Amino acid sequence: MLIHILPDEVASQIAAGEVVERPASVVKELMENAIDAGATQISIRVDEAGKRLIEVSDDGDGIEYDQLALAVARHSTSKLQIAADLFHIHTLGFRGEALASIGSVARMVITSHKPDELHGGRVLVDGGKIHATEVVGVPAGTVVRVMDLFYNTPARLKFLKKDLTEKQQMETLITRYALAYPDTAFKLVVDQRNIMQTSGNGNRREILALLYGVDLSQQLLEVVFDADGIKLAGYISPISITRSNRKEITFFVNGRWIQDIALSTALIKAYQSYLMVGRYPVAFLSITLDPEEVDVNVHPAKAEVRFKQPDLLFTSIQRAVRRALLAYSPVPQLNPIAWQRTNTDFSSSSGWQNSALDWGKSTPVASDPDSGNIAEKSPQTGLTTESEAMPLLRVIGQIGAVYLVAEGPDGLYLIDQHAAHERILFEKFTGKNSKIESQNLLEPQLLQLDASSSRQVEKNLHILCNFGFGIEEFGTNLFRITAIPALFMGKDANAAIRCLIEDFEEDETPLKGLEEARLIARICKRMAVKGGQVLSHEEQVALLRDLETCAAPRTCPHGRPTMILLSVDLLERQFGRRGAR
Ligand code: ADP
Ligand code: MG
Repeated sequence: MLIHILPDEVASQIAAGEVVERPASVVKELMENAIDAGATQISIRVDEAGKRLIEVSDDGDGIEYDQLALAVARHSTSKLQIAADLFHIHTLGFRGEALASIGSVARMVITSHKPDELHGGRVLVDGGKIHATEVVGVPAGTVVRVMDLFYNTPARLKFLKKDLTEKQQMETLITRYALAYPDTAFKLVVDQRNIMQTSGNGNRREILALLYGVDLSQQLLEVVFDADGIKLAGYISPISITRSNRKEITFFVNGRWIQDIALSTALIKAYQSYLMVGRYPVAFLSITLDPEEVDVNVHPAKAEVRFKQPDLLFTSIQRAVRRALLAYSPVPQLNPIAWQRTNTDFSSSSGWQNSALDWGKSTPVASDPDSGNIAEKSPQTGLTTESEAMPLLRVIGQIGAVYLVAEGPDGLYLIDQHAAHERILFEKFTGKNSKIESQNLLEPQLLQLDASSSRQVEKNLHILCNFGFGIEEFGTNLFRITAIPALFMGKDANAAIRCLIEDFEEDETPLKGLEEARLIARICKRMAVKGGQVLSHEEQVALLRDLETCAAPRTCPHGRPTMILLSVDLLERQFGRRGAR
């Protein structure tokens, strides 16, 4: 075959494939155009999962009658003049491709009326063929109707997912945009059924309530951040609310929905040590930065961007999220409803109380004579803010050799001794000013390993030393342990090292920063007192006092609660005293 320039329609269809992959891409492009046109109301109608009809109406600026035909031509835009403008983009569109692409794979009718013109106009595009513009009387704004999507590209039609999946994609897309643009009223009608409607009153929590229900939306923590030219605004879930995947993590960058794994990884890392493995937060974060800091022209559908200073952005996300989490990490409170619930996602999150914190602040507490060597009474460390401190507790005893029972200002606390000790060890290990102290063993211990574990230990000797282990080669696959972290004195040194080796083997990447925290969390879990271990009264008191000095006393490093509260209020209700008074 000879080389030849492709006919325009073929070239358009090829180009369209990049922009219009599925019905949701059509909705996205049309919605973005409406937003760019300054719409305050956008309604979307979808029939048969978008294959029969997608219609987006807005009350925006409209398109001039004379320009209607141009708007649907390829590479035609009103948003960009010269290439340099690409780095000052303040609109969502700029490629001038969407309408042309959609028009080449569907039958499209655009009616539009620019408010300062006498009449509106209508243009028809059918499989890329643009018909003459006609005069019509329509209200101000623009309506784009897209019918029979992919009718002339059957291969594309075949690749679509089940209707349900396509519909869900569109719904997700529209609700995300509604969240990102709370001042715009969105309405979605699917197969003549009203699916979603926002008021456009600027209240994001209201929209979150539509998405997640009132209960959950009220528990989401607000994130506000502004530093180094980066602004963040949005909501994240507290540690008690998690999902099994990343789907509920949404980022908007300068008003654009961006699917970027690096951004969500930064967010998840901020939850480090609060979330159990395989659980993910719910989050909506809108990021605003200087357009010059973002390259938006790396992806035809504009779903990916590149940042000039990605590290600065990731750190900012982590700082903002961490701050929001630490500012409010409440003690889960038992109530009769939570007791009966099976859904662990939400069970620990209902009805939090703050009164414990007030009590903790206002009541001076004398040093407890039982608690031997506790020098520091105040839980306030450099990192600690008042709201995350735990109330001061009086030990009552131990049940089942697993839980400590204590009286607090607002009721009865049950403390999981293992989880609590994990937290204590974890913070001693990672604490800012705590140097990990090493203690020599009176009698060095020998550790025999298999060949591959031995390689791991050899490779990671420096990490073990940093953790306070003294360890040296003593023969083939044989090591001599001469010292262990002082924290673990009297505990099984071999077990601690084996636990670390497992982690080395799991993960080939060099351990740095947050990875190290994960490793420490594991070793602390191994070393912490177990459930089933009887503790003396002195040990119980010491455990609680140590817990009080922690920066995040309410969860273990893996995110499980260390304590639950049975409030006086609950007890009164359960004993029927409430009604009696
Ligand atoms: P882009 O958005 O990248 O400029 P499009 O093909 O999506 O390219 O749209 C082409 C042009 O048509 C836009 O630049 C804009 O001027 C006009 N336009 C499209 N949709 C609307 C709308 N809903 N309201 C007003 N003008 C619109
Ligand atoms: Mg556009």
